[in-house]
Amino acid sequence: MTRIRNFIDGQFVEPMGGKYLDNIEPATGQPYSQVADSDARDVERAIAAAEKAFPAWSKTPAAERSRLLLRIADLIERDLEKLARAESIDTGKPLSLARSLDIPRAASNFRFFATAILHTENEAHVTDGVAFNYTLRQPRGITGLISPWNLPLYLLSWKIAPALAVGNTAIAKPSELTPMTALLLCEICVEAGLPNGVLNIVHGTGPNVGAAITAHPKIGTISFTGGTVTGRKVAEAAAPLFKKVSLELGGKNPNIVFADADLDAAIAGSVRSSFANQGQVCLCGSRVFVERSAYQNFVERFIDKVSQLKQGDPLDEKTEQGAIVSKTQLDKVRFYVDLAQKEGGTVALGGKVPDSINERCRDGYFFPPTVLTDLPVSCRTNREEIFGPVVTITPFDSEEEVIGYANDCDYGLASSVWTQNLSRAHRVAEKIHTGTVWVNCWLVRDLRVPFGGMKQSGVGREGGEEALRFFTEAKNVCIAK
Ligand code: NAD
Repeated sequence: MTRIRNFIDGQFVEPMGGKYLDNIEPATGQPYSQVADSDARDVERAIAAAEKAFPAWSKTPAAERSRLLLRIADLIERDLEKLARAESIDTGKPLSLARSLDIPRAASNFRFFATAILHTENEAHVTDGVAFNYTLRQPRGITGLISPWNLPLYLLSWKIAPALAVGNTAIAKPSELTPMTALLLCEICVEAGLPNGVLNIVHGTGPNVGAAITAHPKIGTISFTGGTVTGRKVAEAAAPLFKKVSLELGGKNPNIVFADADLDAAIAGSVRSSFANQGQVCLCGSRVFVERSAYQNFVERFIDKVSQLKQGDPLDEKTEQGAIVSKTQLDKVRFYVDLAQKEGGTVALGGKVPDSINERCRDGYFFPPTVLTDLPVSCRTNREEIFGPVVTITPFDSEEEVIGYANDCDYGLASSVWTQNLSRAHRVAEKIHTGTVWVNCWLVRDLRVPFGGMKQSGVGREGGEEALRFFTEAKNVCIAK
């Protein structure tokens, strides 16, 4: 059985305490590898390596840093099949999804930031006849990068690539539930020739490793993606040390369908935005609102399409719905489906654990795509993040009413609006409190745009120029005339 060790100073090393956690394959419910159960001593060791590597890496010319990161992108693409399989086994997501989305996007992350640093500009300001100012952007030092399980390689690379591109070194902590692609990425970094200590990966649990990273005074920059409750703990640990923190947190995203929408496109888009990766994408539109005149038609056709999604073994090429990442997450999904019924909801589709997927997956964590109707907008099922294959559908009567529904939520990550009325699209986009508003689409990504949430979905923006700025210190140099 593979033992996933820490990657520190360019070497694969045992955790200091010698302990490992079982890494469970969600599709089978069985351990298939083991991952280092590290603690603060391993974080300390990684910090020593990152500190030693920083002076040389931060002085390495941008063209050379770029060349190394592009090489990593090339190797990710070369190893696409191996990485996609590892990601599918680790997470339970369909192999086809890992192959078409997660892994190519991880390569794109490295390529984007590797080339972006070749084109950055520094601002200059002339102060009347008195002085000339220029902005000097410098790397911040050792960065702490903490990521979740739902898009493990994609989200880890989304942090590692900009942090390293601008000359920082990093201590990264992948989710203990999905560490396998991080191991493969480390092997790629060695092959690419990334200098020792520039990227260090410490595996283990949040309370042991994540908390040690966020509390350590030598790590002045924290980029965290995960749940809102954990994000609050990260913010609390970082605040007294005045760390620079980016928090990408949970969501309960509205997906609004107006009666004038192209209904075929809206239904196809809503099926994807509801159930991609079994609903375990922070951007999934888990609250669907449909204008009343189109409601009945939408619900019938939506349910028909959803019922055709093929649930199965994630490694089966035809599978469109795989497994839920863990038993804990499966229990959470079941809890909310029960709660929804207590809150007056109707299970229009799904709602029960399937009898059997196949012999290999008989103990796996599966739950079918589930559609809930007849729920009040203000109920818990409609307000709390479930993070599974469960959507609610609610009718609305006016633009004003649905904007109120969309915003009546603690989260503000993303939203979708389906309409053919351009003026309405602009009006609604302006009034919805989410970091991203997609109009007539979902999950379209352009790496140049700011990305992040409002309200309890987080603070800070990752993506494009914002990410490069987050990972640098802007210094003003003022020269008197
Ligand atoms: P989580 O908060 O449980 O864990 C995220 C990471 O934080 C893991 O690596 C975990 O080990 C670590 N961690 C746990 N406790 C910690 C602590 N006290 N200090 C430091 N680190 C700690 O989240 P999860 O269950 O892995 O992921 C699902 C959540 O992530 C959902 O809420 C989802 O919406 C969110 N998410 C958000 C985005 C986004 O871009 N906004 C993207 C993906 C996922």
